[in-house]
Amino acid sequence: MRTRLDALVSAALQQGSAVPAFTCYDFTTALAVVAAAEEAGRGAILLVAPKTAATPNGLRLIAALRGLADAAGVPVAVQLDHATDPQVIAEAVTAGADSVLVDGSSLPYEENIALVRGVRADLAAQGNADVVIEAELGGLAGDEDRAFGTGAADGAGSASGEDPSGLTDSAQVEDFVARTGAQLLAVAVGNVHGKYKGEPRLRWDVLQDIAVRTRIPLVLHGASGIPAAELVKAAAMNVGKVNFNTELRTGVLAVLEEQTAAHRADGENLQALLGLWDASARGFAATALATLSR
Ligand SMILES: [Zn+2]
Repeated sequence: MRTRLDALVSAALQQGSAVPAFTCYDFTTALAVVAAAEEAGRGAILLVAPKTAATPNGLRLIAALRGLADAAGVPVAVQLDHATDPQVIAEAVTAGADSVLVDGSSLPYEENIALVRGVRADLAAQGNADVVIEAELGGLAGDEDRAFGTGAADGAGSASGEDPSGLTDSAQVEDFVARTGAQLLAVAVGNVHGKYKGEPRLRWDVLQDIAVRTRIPLVLHGASGIPAAELVKAAAMNVGKVNFNTELRTGVLAVLEEQTAAHRADGENLQALLGLWDASARGFAATALATLSR
């Protein structure tokens, strides 16, 4: 059923839970995520990557996810992830996204604020003032669409999670939230996009510093690879939304790699292969939902 992303997240936090958000590059994965959410009786968030949204087929995918979310038996929101391009944002919202992560985290501080404010003003002018905006403060290492880099110069190559330069500066949080008017805040506390090099080390001290400085829900990106025992602590620090991408993709790709030859031999049986894709994504989503729920 249709829901406001901020309302979904706040309701979960009041119960000591967080809401998982899953990147969907395709409709099969989205169907699996929503089925898992319905089985768990919990809300979920479908994320669409900006590179996906920047294509005509991507906008059709968003429209399809909108229909899927509205018809679901549990609250489901559709968010455009990591967006900076005003045109992509406007088109994605028109196609059916009800929330946008306006990501100015790679920009200087004042430009980050200006980007979020500009998007808010644009959306209001387009009659879409009710779109929920997540903003991001502090840069995450890595690439959200690719689990690891192809060369030494790639940003993910240094994604150790230990580089303190990318951490959210808690001293900026109050000012940033007040001036952007963001309804959720994505933070960098040692989390990275893609695969972690070595053990992830979340900076709980930084997260706690941030949590006491704002009342809006916090968001943790790059949760793939963070142990469940760590993730369950997040909601206590006002982290109400946790984004998953890499592990979901890895699971699906592993199943396809292992099963494709046998299913080709079985009369090019794509239908059965899609069933295994569904089972992989559904199983991952069910685990994430259970981990973040109390
Ligand atoms: Zn992200």
